[in-house]
Amino acid sequence: MDSGSKFVVNVAYTTPSGRMHIGHGLGHTVSDVILRYEALKQEKDSFFGFGMHSTGKDLIKIIETLKDEDNLPQILKRYNIPQKKRDELLSLPDLEDQVDTLVQEYESQYKEVIKKMGIAMDFDSFFSTNQEANQKYTQWTLKKLNDSGLIVETESERPYCAKCDDIKHIDIDLSEVSSVGQVKWDEVRIQDGELQGGKFECRLHSGEPITVKKRKERAINYADEETQNKVLKLIKNMKVRPNKYKENLEEIVKTRLPKPFERNSEGNIGATSPFDPDKKVEALSDSNIYMEFYGISQLINNQDIKIDNLTDEFFDYVYLNKGNPADVAKNSNMEETDLIKAKKHVQERIPVDVSVLGFEHLGVHLPFSLFTHAAVFPDNYFFPECVVTSHITKKGEKMSKSKGNVVYLDDLLDLSEKEVSIKGLSKEASYDSIRFFLSYYQSMDQDFDWDDSNFIRVSLSGMKRHVSSIRRSGDIKQSARDGDLNYIDKWFSTLDQITVDKITEKMDERDSRKALVELTDIRTKALNNYLTSESPKKEILSSFLKNQISMGYPVLPRVSEELRKEYIPNEQITWPKTNEEMKFFEEYERGEHEFKGKDYEKNIVGDLNSKIGRMMGKKEIKPGDSLEILTPTQYQSTLLQKLKSPFSGKFDMDFQQNQTYEEIMVRKKL
Ligand SMILES: [Zn+2]
Repeated sequence: MDSGSKFVVNVAYTTPSGRMHIGHGLGHTVSDVILRYEALKQEKDSFFGFGMHSTGKDLIKIIETLKDEDNLPQILKRYNIPQKKRDELLSLPDLEDQVDTLVQEYESQYKEVIKKMGIAMDFDSFFSTNQEANQKYTQWTLKKLNDSGLIVETESERPYCAKCDDIKHIDIDLSEVSSVGQVKWDEVRIQDGELQGGKFECRLHSGEPITVKKRKERAINYADEETQNKVLKLIKNMKVRPNKYKENLEEIVKTRLPKPFERNSEGNIGATSPFDPDKKVEALSDSNIYMEFYGISQLINNQDIKIDNLTDEFFDYVYLNKGNPADVAKNSNMEETDLIKAKKHVQERIPVDVSVLGFEHLGVHLPFSLFTHAAVFPDNYFFPECVVTSHITKKGEKMSKSKGNVVYLDDLLDLSEKEVSIKGLSKEASYDSIRFFLSYYQSMDQDFDWDDSNFIRVSLSGMKRHVSSIRRSGDIKQSARDGDLNYIDKWFSTLDQITVDKITEKMDERDSRKALVELTDIRTKALNNYLTSESPKKEILSSFLKNQISMGYPVLPRVSEELRKEYIPNEQITWPKTNEEMKFFEEYERGEHEFKGKDYEKNIVGDLNSKIGRMMGKKEIKPGDSLEILTPTQYQSTLLQKLKSPFSGKFDMDFQQNQTYEEIMVRKKL
């Protein structure tokens, strides 16, 4: 174990604009399941930062809207702000303080929801991009890009709002503009001084059309070939899940253009540009390497360092190991020991082992983030793995506030408390049902449609199956005895062990759905069969029970912990390792045959037939040849000879057991 280093995940930080919705729920759940699983398996501490992206105009717009006395009840409901908080906020004379108050309100609301979701976030790492400490980091980042020659001047025709007197970025995020009518995203571009592909208006000025204007601007040069090539090289070693996005991503990196990053200060939240005191850094340019800042914000929040300590030299030393610590400490107005401690603290939280983001971040945020990592940081900061979450729709439609069809997490938590409660478990355990549903219902690479009744039905039955497998094995274990293992004991023991292997493999692949099918469907069904046998053995049930509780933990942390206390109070939850001595493959096949009957026979013959058929298709064998049929167990070999394949008459088949194979093998006899 690497002492001190932590397993780190990051989920795209939220833009505060009202209540958290099911899309946030999916991203946070996927991240947390990976975090809990890997921390358990690797026996590491974990780190999961909590932050908000408040750059741009959104919060200023909310504050403006809150002043509208006429429609106040709807507005308060829409943004989820209590009247008292609104009055307090508007009584503050300074806009920055108003923004800060709004951020604090959303921080506490989101924290409550995230806690109920059972997400292991490090809440003391909180920062928001309107805060000074983070803005210093953003300025440092841009200076580093400039040092590498990656800040360039561009003159080009740009989308423009006359009321803001400012350029607007148009992308599928719709972070700065709103679309008017249908947009053909593939065709959005500026041509002959006109905007093609769709009509847009300013997000800040409703009804104000986005036009085109020629502007000279500072831009981050995402088109720089040398850095692009470095990104492409680093991407080769990065796992992208679902893997189908990896190829897109390489293409996206190669086709990025220089992106202007400055906006007028007026009416915008963000860091002041290090190159122009009248400009602010826009939203897509301050969110590229924010995930490495959580270590620093944690130190600030815990008062281990002060905002004044955050000099460029401090960042150079902590992130890039540049400079002499004595000099850096002196120039940053801090003790050398505190500086060294700060560096260690930050380094323990790097790299972000898994970065989780939504599909909508693939085209813009992710390539910018990878580019900035490659340009500013050492190679080992590059994420080893990115996970892209799917879309959730409702009745086939995209969820949106204006349609009023958004599924909010606080409503869903209330629903699960009422409808998915399980006898003997707490209300927090019933909140695990949302995690269960999001992990079990659909594969990660497919979008899915939300339906409350579906959620209740699927999560209730799945959680009940799982909990009852633990309760039944735990209860019957009490009166069970040890003794010589018969073939049924050996069958079940083997199943217990090999499903541990399968679940581990699926969790490694981030396929929580297949892992949960093994855990809550296959293992539970097998247990029910095992308990019909004459005398289930204590030792076998103990192993099953502990594995069942432990392997449920990443998805169902509260359920698992409560059942652990009830059934194995003297043991800790650890990720199981398989015991080869408890695998008995002859008895396993015999047991499977007994419980699955004709289905087992159909499967084994079908497997052999398809292998022979495939070899004939490839002309590797022809009728009349002699074949060797190698099976992992003698049981399979004997059974196959008895059952006879349709090919039995066409080939001369020699059946043999060969333990070195994990599945049935067919070879041409020479
Ligand atoms: Zn505008």
